[in-house]
Formats: sequence, C-alpha cells, structure tokens
Amino acid sequence: MAGKKVIITGVPGVGKTTVINEALKKLRESGIEYQSINFGSFMFEVAKSENFVKDRDQMRTLDRAVQKKLQQQAGQAIAKISGNVLIDTHASVKTPKGYLAGLPEWVLREIMPDIIVLVETDDDQILMRRLTDETRARDKEGSRAISEHQQFNRSIAAAYAMLTGCTIKIVTNADFLLDRSSADLAEVLR
Ligand code: AMP
Ligand code: MG
Repeated sequence: MAGKKVIITGVPGVGKTTVINEALKKLRESGIEYQSINFGSFMFEVAKSENFVKDRDQMRTLDRAVQKKLQQQAGQAIAKISGNVLIDTHASVKTPKGYLAGLPEWVLREIMPDIIVLVETDDDQILMRRLTDETRARDKEGSRAISEHQQFNRSIAAAYAMLTGCTIKIVTNADFLLDRSSADLAEVLR
C-alpha cells in the first residue's frame, strides 16, 4: 500500500514541532513509522546556499517571486519521498505584502496530501509562546493579528480540501495539554 501523506500546519509558535515529535513517539511505540519532513528546511537549504538569507525567519520577507521559486523546488523534492510522510509547514505565510499561500495548487498537485492538520490554540497562548521563544525570530504581533492569521488558515485549508479531496483535521494544542494534542495527532496518523 502506498504511504500516507500528511501535511501539518499552524501559525508560528503554536507548537507544531513539539506536537509532531510527541505524536511520532507514540506511533513508534505501536510500530507505525513516519518520516518527518520540514518544508521550511528544504527551502532554507537552497536559500542559504544562494546567499538569499542567513536565518530561516528571513525567508518570509524575500521577494514573493523568490519565495514561490523556493517553495516550488521544496514541493518537488518532497513529492519524491515515498512511504508515510509527515510534512511540517504553513497553510499561509505572513509576508510584508500579505498572506502567501503555503500550498498553492502547483505544490498541492505534486504532494496530493491525504490529510491536512491545522494545529491551533488560543491567540494569547501563542503570543506568550512567541515572547518566550529565544531560539527563533518570531513575528512580534498582537493577539488580534494572530487571530486573523488563524482564521485565514482555516479558510485557505478549505480551498486545499476542495483541490485535493483531503480531509482537514483541527488539533488544539492548549497549554499543559501536550499529551492530549499529540494523542489527537497520532490518532489521525494511524
Ligand atoms: P518554520 O520553521 O516551519 O517556521 O518555517 C520557516 C520558514 O519557512 C517560514 O517562515 C516560511 O518563510 C518558510 N516556509 C515554510 N513552509 C512554507 C510553505 N509551504 N510555503 C512558503 N514558505 C514556507
Ligand atoms: Mg516548527
């Protein structure tokens, strides 16, 4: 049987990577393996080698045409990977010129995901997580802007479902409930 392609998204700072790692640990205990892939890392490898950026958080301020090119290359490379694949990425990227679709149709048609997961939580929890994350250059924005971004991600996910016939799963990653959110994610990956 062909592997499952699952795309996992959520605004920066929602804790996607943490939920993924915890869910994959749970799945491994029941003998289910997924290859975990970070879409941004594929883009960053190219962007860094071309000297476009020094850190991954600078990519969303690059010229739109450049971001799209990097995105297309990453999509093509990721589409070639077989087996169960979990792709950590963004439903939309907040750029200085507005929201950029993280999965425009030419990327979706390459990957053809079975499921798109939206990791969400309360806007003020995301705000606090960004403020306390020293490892990343997260956007400094208020909870209203975070709310708008989360709403936009739901809307654009509906468009992705229309294009691919994938299902959309919403996983809430609330404070102190990582066990719950990772179990929810693991459940849809089974
Ligand atoms: P992350 O580590 O997931 O926050 O991703 C780092 C950066 O990679 C993001 O801020 C975006 O600039 C870029 N990126 C990741 N996924 C996508 C995507 N699907 N489309 C466009 N840019 C992306
Ligand atoms: Mg991450």
